[in-house]
Amino acid sequence: MRKYLICLLSFFLLLVGCTVPEKPKEPIDDPGENGTEDPEDPIDDPSVPGEPGDSDNYVVYINLDGFAKYYYDEAVKRGGVQTLRKLIQEGVMFENLYNLPPSITNPNQAMIISGATSGKTQNVYRYYDRLNNIVVQQGRENKAETLYDKAVELGIPSVSVRHFPAESVFSPTDPTRLYVTEPSGTEADAAARFDQAIKLVRGNSFQNGTSPMRLEEVPRFLTIYCDDLDALGHNEKDAYGYKKASTENGRLNNVLAALETIDQKLAELIQAYKDRGIYEKTTFFLTTDHGMTPFGAPSILESLFSKYSHSKWPALRDKLKSINKDYVFEYLGPGEKPSPSTTIVGVGVGLQMQLTFLDSSVTENELESIKRELLKEEYVQAVLTKKELLQQGYWRGANVDLLVIPSERYHFHGRENPSGNYAVRGQHDTILDSSRHIYGIVWGYRVKKIGLEEKEYLVPQFGVAMAEMLGFTLKDANVGRMDIFD
Ligand SMILES: [Zn+2]
Repeated sequence: MRKYLICLLSFFLLLVGCTVPEKPKEPIDDPGENGTEDPEDPIDDPSVPGEPGDSDNYVVYINLDGFAKYYYDEAVKRGGVQTLRKLIQEGVMFENLYNLPPSITNPNQAMIISGATSGKTQNVYRYYDRLNNIVVQQGRENKAETLYDKAVELGIPSVSVRHFPAESVFSPTDPTRLYVTEPSGTEADAAARFDQAIKLVRGNSFQNGTSPMRLEEVPRFLTIYCDDLDALGHNEKDAYGYKKASTENGRLNNVLAALETIDQKLAELIQAYKDRGIYEKTTFFLTTDHGMTPFGAPSILESLFSKYSHSKWPALRDKLKSINKDYVFEYLGPGEKPSPSTTIVGVGVGLQMQLTFLDSSVTENELESIKRELLKEEYVQAVLTKKELLQQGYWRGANVDLLVIPSERYHFHGRENPSGNYAVRGQHDTILDSSRHIYGIVWGYRVKKIGLEEKEYLVPQFGVAMAEMLGFTLKDANVGRMDIFD
């Protein structure tokens, strides 16, 4: 079985690519009894502050939720995304940009704006809490300092159009730290959100929810968040005026149509900066939190007989039992506690499954041996042990001993009803390339005109880079600086 690329962090700033071996090699060193002596966080390299920031420059951060790199590549093949393509010559487009596990919205949005791994933000979306013996569902928690915290602290005039991590720090009325929503009664699609940004950059009046407003000055820091690509990529229901697709190609067509609208709106936003006479002083960052992995049967028609339709979690439970008859797996949802007989708690969102052994004395060697067994299954693409997760900066408090990643199109959905049929769906909580390999571009003021950048970067490095352009450092940042500025 062909194994996917897993990228482990090196001691340097960037990832070192390495394939998952067919037969995982023995761990080089035993992390010690009970795995308590975990490896040091190898990316704890404090970000190097750049030149002190100007105070008359501008930063724009656009986050398009669920923008997989393969969407962009497909759009290019079809002759689309003209605006994004032209921008490559004005800066750096990242050919090899990745997120960090878990590839889920809130954890990755937090990692980006803190320039840090989940070890610092302490948000992995959902996990089993050993201390309280319960599965915890997290929301927008972020223990690390964010760009928004710092901008407010330093009095940097900032506006966010619907980037939700700003909502609790900004205000719907304070023009120096303004949170902007679409005009009430308007559907909050990307066009509506970009229109708000375009109006405020032009100095025109706009309606923030129900309140009419106008800003005299363009904010130094403007952020825009849109989730059209994510909603259409999931293909769970009709969204933003698009019908739920019945084939994989239909799903892709919906996403690419929405991407074209965004591409045109981006051109309008750029024109607004040019007309205002500040384009030359503005650095633009456009990226995303994760991609999207198609799962289930590839069409509705095939869902009755496809091997991908049904959940594989019962198979995983049985496999664990076959490895050791004492293993009792239980797949728990938020707020649930394991039964007295349970020995392994499973926590997931649909694709990858986090396993926590209730007997915390399980060793890294034992985990390695279970991993080898699991990798023999067709529906298992990769398995990360606790040690490997910690090396990638994964939050220790999530108590994950093994992370089981299903192969392409297989899934662990249907916790309560594993016999349900799944078809033409997308989800992104996986380390498969379709979810981890994401789109990103930086252009404008002080950005080296590198064009296509082949070096591997991690998306939290965008946070470090934005802080640099705003003239500060993020105190919890633990990913490296991007070498892209003059
Ligand atoms: Zn997302």
